[in-house]
Amino acid sequence: MTVKVNESCIGCGACESICDAVFSVDGIAQVEESAVADNMDCVKEAADACPVSAIEIE
Ligand code: SF4
Repeated sequence: MTVKVNESCIGCGACESICDAVFSVDGIAQVEESAVADNMDCVKEAADACPVSAIEIE
């Protein structure tokens, strides 16, 4: 499973609030790839909550 944040990100911080093990927002959201596997539930929750659908799960 790969998680990416695309260029639509507006840096709102919602993903970090929901899943701070994976997402950190510094201008735009950064993904901590090594934490994805253990946090898929909140990654999906963050992707659903992102206002611009910038979180891509592949
Ligand atoms: S929730 Fe979406 S728009 Fe907001 S910081 Fe995260 S990836 Fe960017």
